[in-house]
Amino acid sequence: MKLGEVIKTQAEKYDSFYLYNQVGIIKSTNILKENFPQVEFLYSIKSNSNNHVVNTIFNQNFGADAASLGEVLLSHELGLGSDKIYYSAPGKTIADIKGAIEKSIIIADSIDEIKRIDTVSKELGKVTKIGVRINPNFSFTENSGGSSKFGIDEELIYELLAENQCKNIEINGIHIHLKSQELNANILEQYYNKIFTLATNLKEKCNCKLDYINMGSGIGIEYSINDNPLDIKRLGQFVANKLEELKKTNPNTKILIEVGRYAIGKNGLYVTKVVDRKTSYGTTFIILKNTLNGFIRPSIANLIGKYSTDKKPIASEPLFTSLDAFQFLTLKESGEKEKVTLVGNLCTATDVIAEDIIMPKLCYGDIVFMTNAGSYGAVLTPMQFSTQEKPVELFVNTSGEVVE
Ligand SMILES: *Cc1c(COP(=O)(O)O)cnc(C)c1O
Repeated sequence: MKLGEVIKTQAEKYDSFYLYNQVGIIKSTNILKENFPQVEFLYSIKSNSNNHVVNTIFNQNFGADAASLGEVLLSHELGLGSDKIYYSAPGKTIADIKGAIEKSIIIADSIDEIKRIDTVSKELGKVTKIGVRINPNFSFTENSGGSSKFGIDEELIYELLAENQCKNIEINGIHIHLKSQELNANILEQYYNKIFTLATNLKEKCNCKLDYINMGSGIGIEYSINDNPLDIKRLGQFVANKLEELKKTNPNTKILIEVGRYAIGKNGLYVTKVVDRKTSYGTTFIILKNTLNGFIRPSIANLIGKYSTDKKPIASEPLFTSLDAFQFLTLKESGEKEKVTLVGNLCTATDVIAEDIIMPKLCYGDIVFMTNAGSYGAVLTPMQFSTQEKPVELFVNTSGEVVE
C-alpha cells in the first residue's frame, strides 16, 4: 500500500496519530553501519522509546544509550545484554545506581556520583567497571570549553584516572557528547579529532585502560527543505582513518557513536485532521486536532519565530531546530489554494503551528500531516493538557502491516 493510502485508512480510525516506518528505520541504520563498519552504534532511546522502534533498531545490532533507569530496564526487557546498555545521565539517584548496576554500564557524570557507585559496589562486594562522561576543554568549533552541567571537567579527569581512590570502581571508558544536529562533516571531523587527541593524552598521562571511547552524537538530518545532507561517506572515511591510527597503540579500544534522530527522525510522520475552519477579520483559521499537545515542536518553532528578531534563531535541541524544520502537507491533489493560519483545538491562543501559509483549501475531516516527526515528537509533547484524547503511535512494519 502507498503511504498516502496508509494515512487515509488510519485516519478513518484515528483523529491524530504518529506513523513510524520500519523500512525507513532499517535503511537509515544500514547507512550508518555501511559507512562506519568498525564503529559500534548506540540508539539514544530518549528520541523515541516506542517499543517497535526500539526493537527494530536493537535488531540492527545497535546498543542502547539509556538516559534513565527506565530506559535501562526497557532495553533489558527487550533483550539487550548489560554490556550493550550504556547508562549516561546527570543526577542519578542511589536507587537509579542500584537498579542499573547489574543491568548496564554506568557512565558516571560527576565525582560525587563515582563515590556513590563505589559505595553501592562495596555493599554488593564487587568491583564495578564504569565509564566517565567528560566535559572537555573544547567545543565543536572552539579549542576551549566552558562550564557544563554534564560530565566531569577535563582538567580533573587526568588525576582521576591516574589515581582512582575508589577501591570498588574501575574506570575503563570515556563518554563525550556536546551537541546534536550538525550537518557539516568538516565540523564533526574536527570534533572527532579532538576526542581522539584527548583519548591519546589520557592513555599517555594516566596509563589507564580505555576499553571504549563514546563520541556521543552530532550526526544531523535534513529538517528544512533548504538543508544540505551531511556527507556521511566522507565522515565514515575520516573515522576509519583515525581508527587505524588509534589501533596501533590501542588495539582493543572500541569506538561508540550514539544516534537518536538519524535512526528515526525522518522515518516518522505526525498526522492530524481538520476539525473546524473559520474566517475572522480576514484571517482564515484551520483548526486541527492535537497540535501543541500532539506534536509540540512546530508550535515551539512558531512561538520562537514570533519572539525572535533573528531570521535564523539559534537552535536549542531537541526543542527547537529551525523555523522551517517541519513541512505541513495534505493529501489533496491540485485545486483551490488559500492563505491560512494553522492552529490547534486547545483553549490557548499559543496553540499555533503556522501563520499565513498557502495550503490547498481544507475542510472538516481533511488530513494534514507533518514531516520529521519520528524523533523528539511523542516523547517531548505534553499530552495531558486539557484532558484531550492522545494521539496513538502506529508502526508500519516491513510487511506493510500497521501495528499499534
Ligand atoms: C540526546 C542524546 C543523543 C542523541 O542525539 P541525536 O541528536 O538525537 O542523535 C546522544 N547522546 C546523548 C548523550 C544525548 O543526550
